[in-house]
Amino acid sequence: MEYSLLIGGQRIAAANHAHVKNPSTGDVVGLMPLATPAQLDQAVDAAQIAFKSWSQTSDEARIDACRAVAEAISNHAEELATLLTQEQGKPMNGLGSRFEIGGALAWTRYTAELQLPVEILQDDNEGRVELHRKPIGVVGSITPWNWPVMIACWHIIPAIRAGNTVVIKPSPMTPLSTIRLVEIINEVLPAGVVNVVTGENAIGGLLSAHPGIAKMTFTGSTETGKKIMASAVETLKRLTLELGGNDAGIVLPDVDPRGIAEGLFWGAFINNGQTCAALKRLYVHDSIYDAVCEALADYAGKITVGDGMDEKSVLGPVQNEMQFNKVRELVEDARANGGRILTGGAPMERAGYFYPITLVADVTDGMRIVDEEQFGPALPIIRYSDVEEVIERANRNPAGLGGSVWSSDPEKAKRYALRLECGSVWINKHGAIQPNAPFGGVKSSGIGVEFGAEGLKEFTTIQTVLS
Ligand code: NAD
Repeated sequence: MEYSLLIGGQRIAAANHAHVKNPSTGDVVGLMPLATPAQLDQAVDAAQIAFKSWSQTSDEARIDACRAVAEAISNHAEELATLLTQEQGKPMNGLGSRFEIGGALAWTRYTAELQLPVEILQDDNEGRVELHRKPIGVVGSITPWNWPVMIACWHIIPAIRAGNTVVIKPSPMTPLSTIRLVEIINEVLPAGVVNVVTGENAIGGLLSAHPGIAKMTFTGSTETGKKIMASAVETLKRLTLELGGNDAGIVLPDVDPRGIAEGLFWGAFINNGQTCAALKRLYVHDSIYDAVCEALADYAGKITVGDGMDEKSVLGPVQNEMQFNKVRELVEDARANGGRILTGGAPMERAGYFYPITLVADVTDGMRIVDEEQFGPALPIIRYSDVEEVIERANRNPAGLGGSVWSSDPEKAKRYALRLECGSVWINKHGAIQPNAPFGGVKSSGIGVEFGAEGLKEFTTIQTVLS
């Protein structure tokens, strides 16, 4: 099926298209339109025109509009989930596509109700100071291929709730579910408030440099985030950058290995490890190292990896060839350097980008599988003997998205967790996010936060009224 761009409320056909393939089968799921630079200009123009009236609507009207968006998504939930599974690969069940659409809805509903009240900073004989939060203008949104629908909602909903309009450019790996999402959103919003353009990476570069864009919100790799930051310089765009992570989990000696195996497993392998804030380096105390490895391997043995459309699949394939090769390369490098493969360790013998759940023991800091973000179904398990020292080791990595500490003493765990250099820390769990909890990275993992009132504020600019 040939998909179209959506600009100013109209489906706009593209002259050229690219195939979007199902990572489980290699079948073509649909044809992604390749927007021209002129079509991108058209989308920004449409968003600028829509901004004039949308930015003037009342809070109540925008709350109602966001509620209507949630309703529309909910009415198409199964259709969106199916398309998502076909192009992304994740299973329909478990923590897969239905879960992602449920998340998109939860965030949309929560964000719809957030308020941006005028703050009175002073009101006395000396005068009155009011702080107003106003929309910024047209927001450019660029999203990755791992959670395409949910992340699109993380960008679009707070932007429009605050009175901005949007041009979104999804990843060329998974563009179709975002096109469909924007079509659905357009059923209930005025024309031009949300527009979608698709194409290869270059169109993202044109979007982030476009003079008509007032703010960029980007989720993706650190490398691309730097390019977006550089391209925003000329027009001094506001930026939110949610970038790559290499989250450490630290298991203290006082845990019950079997009791934490399930939490550790899903912390690392949700969406096949293709999650920014997944557990990517597991540090386990020497005294329980073998027991934790064994408990994790036993749990991994119960997980069915298969075609996402198969109701029995709990995890699907790796999303694309580049990522598949990266995982393979990092596991091979670990093996060559003395890593011990506990489960998996080589591609599955079937069509598609299937790589099994791979646990690698006896690895050390300095190996590629530990130092680099694997972003796939491979977890290095690293031994440590001194907790103070392991905190230092965890912090040595340039990434700073999330981290976790696992202990039967949550207060002790929290004391260590607070010393991890990252935007979110979890105690006895990893990667759990929620719409009311600000989320963002420090160091090379990004700038700014998303979610909740703090995240909403990032889509506003302050105007101070002094009288
Ligand atoms: P990516 O950086 O390759 O691509 C992300 C998006 O940027 C895509 O839409 C792509 O087309 C676009 N793009 C690529 N080059 C561009 C350029 N020069 N200018 C403008 N846009 C450009 O990332 P990916 O491989 O799609 O996603 C995986 C990465 O995203 C991982 O590092 C992961 O940790 C990170 N991520 C972070 C978060 C977070 O919230 N921090 C969430 C999800 C994913």
